[in-house]
Amino acid sequence: MYPVSSSSTPGLATPPHESDDPVIDAFRVLRWASARFDDQLCVTASFGDATLAHLAHSALPGIEITLLDTGYLFAETEWFAEDLASRHGLNIKIVRPEPDLERNVWQSDTAACCAARKVDPLKRALEGHQAWVTGLRRSDSESRRAAPMVHDDLLRNVTKINPLAAWTEAHVAGYAAAHDLPEHPLVDRGYESLGCWPCTKPVAEGDDPRSGRWANTTKTECGLHL
Ligand code: SF4
Repeated sequence: MYPVSSSSTPGLATPPHESDDPVIDAFRVLRWASARFDDQLCVTASFGDATLAHLAHSALPGIEITLLDTGYLFAETEWFAEDLASRHGLNIKIVRPEPDLERNVWQSDTAACCAARKVDPLKRALEGHQAWVTGLRRSDSESRRAAPMVHDDLLRNVTKINPLAAWTEAHVAGYAAAHDLPEHPLVDRGYESLGCWPCTKPVAEGDDPRSGRWANTTKTECGLHL
């Protein structure tokens, strides 16, 4: 299901193995990715929390961090990204859907809406890149439990790198405390995973963080992470 990436570049062919310290591993894999892919690396962050953006900027200062703005993000998410950029000097690039899209498709067809507002913008963001860095974590949901730190995304023809794959909520909280990172303003209202406002609800304590996404439907992913 997850083919592991390889490379013909001597010395950089094999990504670092996971150790028993996921935080150290995240820095190591980002530095490996930078050495391996240089400016062919695309980092995307959803800004549901500050972790990936801060980590990427710390490991690779000045790296461009792409936010896919579907047009339906919570206003709080846009504010949070701007505030982090201002506090930490992040280099954020916003990629938006095509401007002439039909509106309110989410009310009748969430698959088509996600395809037009998430999957297609990601495809454009990845053009010219060989590798894609994401904030995906195994602890996000049952469907992500087996996600590796590095694998080949055959659909998009890129090496997909998930530096936070092994991170738990405790790792995220510890990293935020260590770096004095702010919390997304909707977290204390029960939003554990931030997506688009029409499709995201708060979750009950102890539930999977992503269980509020497309709640009460069978949909669990938008199509970015297959
Ligand atoms: S999460 Fe909802 S509003 Fe956002 S792109 Fe998907 S269907 Fe559309």
